[in-house]
Amino acid sequence: MTAAVVCAALFLPACLLCCAAVTAAARLHNERALMRTLGEKQMVLTFDDGPCPESTSAILDALQHCGVRAVFFMTAQRAARHPELVRRIQQEGHAIGLHGLSHRSPWLWGMLPGYARREIKQGTEILRSLGAQPLYFRPAWGRLTPFTALFARREGLKLYFWHVMAEDWLPDATAFSIEQRLRARRGERAVVCLHDAFHRGSGGAALHTAAALRHFIPVSLAQGWQFILPERSACPSAKEAA
Ligand SMILES: [Zn+2]
Repeated sequence: MTAAVVCAALFLPACLLCCAAVTAAARLHNERALMRTLGEKQMVLTFDDGPCPESTSAILDALQHCGVRAVFFMTAQRAARHPELVRRIQQEGHAIGLHGLSHRSPWLWGMLPGYARREIKQGTEILRSLGAQPLYFRPAWGRLTPFTALFARREGLKLYFWHVMAEDWLPDATAFSIEQRLRARRGERAVVCLHDAFHRGSGGAALHTAAALRHFIPVSLAQGWQFILPERSACPSAKEAA
């Protein structure tokens, strides 16, 4: 085995370990900071991986029906393919965040500064060229690296993780199971991560998410919950993770 192979064999696990540690620390810090921006019975709904014509439209219809706004974390390549959805999301008062240019795992590629820069900078530029003003950044797979955190800060994006998942991407997810998980996990306040599309395959499964919301939101509103958009000024900065 050559020295180069040995070095690579040691370097890669060390980098992955570093990225895992960065993500864990950043997420913990970010989640706590986000929770402090919310009052009791306040919830922020966020959607990842879109836009996708069928499923994003269904989610938007559900939110419009319930009179609620949310944050859409878009992959810029998909946004470029569906500018009409980007326009609709903005026209209906929702906020937009960047979920990267593509949806590659940042832990494998984000260790390369050039790749991280391209994912964040080019992704942000594409969204801006579509008339969007991305305010937040959520790394694909929730995986952060020092480089992605650094470039997100340079683009003026606030890091925005979540603390409630409803596993709406599972093949056997139903509207009922998604709503049950939301109720069980929301606690006294919540930043919820759902999906208006899926990075692999069709976004058809997100139709269950739309159906779940059509019941979950009105019931929660009747229980005194508020669905709010993040206060950008109160959000933690990406620089805290860089
Ligand atoms: Zn994602």
